[in-house]
Amino acid sequence: KLYNQVQDLKGNIRVYCRVRPFLPGQASRFSSVDHIEEGNISIITPSKYGKEGRKSFSFNKVFGPMATQAEVFADTEPLIRSVLDGYNVCIFAYGQTGSGKTYTMSGPNELTEESLGVNYRALSDLFQLSAQRKEVISYEISCQMLEIYNEQVRDLLTSDALNKRYPFPIVLHTLEIRNSSSNGINVPEAVLVPVSSTSDVINLMNTGHKNRAVSATAMNDRSSRSHSCLTVHVQGRDLTSGNVIRGSMHLVDLAGSERVDKSEVTGDRLKEAQHINKSLSALGDVIASLAVKSNHVPYRNSKLTQLLQDSLGGQAKTLMFVHISPEPDALGETLSTLKFAERVA
Ligand code: ADP
Ligand code: MG
Repeated sequence: KLYNQVQDLKGNIRVYCRVRPFLPGQASRFSSVDHIEEGNISIITPSKYGKEGRKSFSFNKVFGPMATQAEVFADTEPLIRSVLDGYNVCIFAYGQTGSGKTYTMSGPNELTEESLGVNYRALSDLFQLSAQRKEVISYEISCQMLEIYNEQVRDLLTSDALNKRYPFPIVLHTLEIRNSSSNGINVPEAVLVPVSSTSDVINLMNTGHKNRAVSATAMNDRSSRSHSCLTVHVQGRDLTSGNVIRGSMHLVDLAGSERVDKSEVTGDRLKEAQHINKSLSALGDVIASLAVKSNHVPYRNSKLTQLLQDSLGGQAKTLMFVHISPEPDALGETLSTLKFAERVA
């Protein structure tokens, strides 16, 4: 019985690994990825004795460097469907800076139909699936887009004076997180934008990216050092019974997971690194304790896990995309990324 429960919970957490291709202009002589077979990936590690070693890791799925955006999204559709049935879903992108997190979630800078990321595809599916049910259930879909930087929550969709004050002061207007609100909205102060078409979504994401970029120039690519979270709230009303169902989906582009050398950074950079470290390990701790069905799930240890509390655990479904870079230079980070991922898988 207990075994089954653990299996059930584990069934709600899926981990997919994605390997970025070499970038144009990069020397592509050696990849630290040896081979990929179904859910297994094997990494080449240089050994002390001059002979190469191999380290293998297993996940629910591994996508190689040739995988398309459509292939990467294909298995995600059941999650989208469950949001319309009233479930809460979290989709994360984890990995060191430059490993492809934003590419997976949003796509490249120059978007084409084929290169659209998970965010866009997920919302597009939500619109299509909800339209199919429109004789039975009427759905309202709305979005929030937040950023967590140094354990402070900021609204990426507001274009008010708060965002125009950059670069100074760096003291942000921080928003409060309230858990277990009756309507499922955890950050009531943040702007909630109704969306009904994919072009609404593109507009909204552009606003969010612009607001994120404003601070990035002010603070030197802050985007790699903050978490961004696109939250989709779905409310459906059954047209015969009048019953209301609520589901939500959090699409999270996490801060870069790379460790910084404490002997080399000081001041603000060190503080940022410590906050990132803390929140990523808090996320790992929460998912790992859900996976073993621990009685105590340490949600309170970071803003990120507080924000997502009602969408992690219980009936909620979690999908983590872990990203690795193929370059041997990145080997240290690649191994620590894969170890993190194996712990939650
Ligand atoms: P991160 O968000 O993890 O810092 P990015 O998503 O910005 O990384 O990716 C770094 C660079 O690699 C970008 O130029 C991006 O377009 C490119 N890139 C990442 N993943 C892929 C991929 N699967 N195919 C092609 N280019 C990719
Ligand atoms: Mg990024």
